[in-house]
Amino acid sequence: MSKIEFRAESKKLLDMVINSIYSQREVFLRELISNASDAIDKIYYKALTDDNLTFNPDSYYIKIDANKDKRILKITDTGIGMTKEELENNLGVIAKSGSHTFKAENEIKDGHDIIGQFGVGFYAAFMVADKVTVTSKSLESDEAFKWESTGSDGYNIEPAEKAEVGTEIILEIKENEEDENYDEFLEENHLKQIIKKYSDFIRYPIKMDITES
Ligand code: ADP
Ligand code: MG
Repeated sequence: MSKIEFRAESKKLLDMVINSIYSQREVFLRELISNASDAIDKIYYKALTDDNLTFNPDSYYIKIDANKDKRILKITDTGIGMTKEELENNLGVIAKSGSHTFKAENEIKDGHDIIGQFGVGFYAAFMVADKVTVTSKSLESDEAFKWESTGSDGYNIEPAEKAEVGTEIILEIKENEEDENYDEFLEENHLKQIIKKYSDFIRYPIKMDITES
């Protein structure tokens, strides 16, 4: 008898990730920072075996920008970036981890720094954002692409402009609700607290810039 593979009902799975996996909304930032750190680690690993690639630590960092007036939180990294196909496969397929694949392909064993493995962390962004836009330029490509989604209704990908290799994630932070405060995810002190709590071990610099209006 041949086995039939399970297929994931993406909409339900996404709802489950967004509403049930995490008990605290604030962990979305841990997930996005760990992805950014993984992306930088991948350049680091590539540089170990590719003579054309040098790893200058000063060029690699994670940046958090908050604009309170526009309700935008931006997470930028100078990591390896994603091609159009990677945006489709890694962000378009729930529970598909590009980092898990990368570790397998490069024979990176447990105990190394790359954190990602389950392929669901990214979607935690939808706990705090109505819309997520990911603009990325891969180390392997001259073109940049933009992935955009408001959650369970799917996503769009289109060509974009981006000079540097890496990824920029824009979260359009939700409006406050009667019993939910989302403003705190645009507050400098609160963001610092979250980073300290969950991302203290990240070995790349995390810079922050807050705009009031
Ligand atoms: P995981 O980190 O467990 O693999 P995620 O849902 O957090 O799962 O991310 C899915 C995949 O998307 C990652 O494995 C990686 O391939 C890709 N990805 C996410 N964020 C970035 C980023 N900032 N730069 C490059 N690739 C990324
Ligand atoms: Mg992750």
